[in-house]
Amino acid sequence: MKRYTVALIKGDGIGPEIIDEAVKVLDAVSVKEGFEITYKEALLGGAAIDVTGEPIPEETIEIAKSADAVLFGAIGGPQWDDLPRDKRPETGLLKLRKALEVFANLRPVTVYDELVNASTLKPEVIQGTDLMVVRELIGGIYFGQPRAYEGDRAYNTMVYTKQEVYRIAKVGFEIAMKRNKKLVSVDKANVLEVSQLWRDTVNEVAKEYPEVSVEHMYVDNAAMQLVRDPKQFDVILTGNIFGDILSDEASMLSGSIGLLPSASIGEKYGLYEPIHGSAPDIAGQGIANPIATIASAAMMLRYQFGEESAAKRIEDAIKRVLKEGYRTKDLSSFDAKEVVTTSEMGSLIAQY
Ligand code: ATP
Ligand code: MG
Repeated sequence: MKRYTVALIKGDGIGPEIIDEAVKVLDAVSVKEGFEITYKEALLGGAAIDVTGEPIPEETIEIAKSADAVLFGAIGGPQWDDLPRDKRPETGLLKLRKALEVFANLRPVTVYDELVNASTLKPEVIQGTDLMVVRELIGGIYFGQPRAYEGDRAYNTMVYTKQEVYRIAKVGFEIAMKRNKKLVSVDKANVLEVSQLWRDTVNEVAKEYPEVSVEHMYVDNAAMQLVRDPKQFDVILTGNIFGDILSDEASMLSGSIGLLPSASIGEKYGLYEPIHGSAPDIAGQGIANPIATIASAAMMLRYQFGEESAAKRIEDAIKRVLKEGYRTKDLSSFDAKEVVTTSEMGSLIAQY
């Protein structure tokens, strides 16, 4: 029997509640699909600060690197907001991403048929939306040097090397091959040199994938097209800052931030987490939606372990439970037949 080790980082706020449900679902699916997962817990964020004084203890990096994948909840909360920047929970997560060299952030956005009619957006516009944002995660303007805040002047630098663009483009095209062979690369090549390098490099990689249709789009147009006609997109390939903005925009098409998973992958490691934060306002009440985290666990099975049928089983179970009308509180206005707790939602999904 195949065996996998998963580093579990529950974190703060609703983190522990939603991770527990993902583990419940993983345990159920591994029995049905014939593999075994063992878990190693590690501290990160506020939970780590309270115990060790550091947002990411050395031990956490070791556990994450020795496991086959990392499943992560969420971190942060008001009680740690007054700490200096390098001591805050969020610094721990940035350090973990760097340590694992996870340069590709994958964010699928699925609009579930069952939620379409109750959306504040027009059903005919959003129905059938199923896209994936592939965002470069550890380069670009968020990390570029030089950067400074000097008196009345401040600056940042958007820099990409060809090698950085090449490796993220490869990920984008590989995913496009597994999906619908359609990729839109988003940049601002009419204004930015760094975007011209991006575009030239994407075109080079495109030659290796003649089956994939490629379109280039300026980021301002892409932002508009995402709300005008999201169905035109399948894979969106873009840099760090554009991807940050576009993936938050795209997430609103689905109905709740509590539905959307993500994967951050590199050559070797993978980190899987919901796109939402630790939601301190609802922590401990049993009302958090665990679907984003459960769907992240499905991505882990697919991308890290190659357990496609187990991943599909979880995704189908989510659809089925939504179809049956079960909703956590965040989705109570979306044609709910019954509003359930975090733990009930996990159990419902685990049973299929
Ligand atoms: P971060 O800075 O960590 O991204 P944030 O301040 O952007 O955090 P979140 O923690 O994502 O915010 O929460 C934003 C809002 O969405 C809050 O009102 C929160 O209660 C709600 N929310 C977030 N995740 C969930 C979830 N899984 N289920 C239900 N509501 C959620
Ligand atoms: Mg946020």
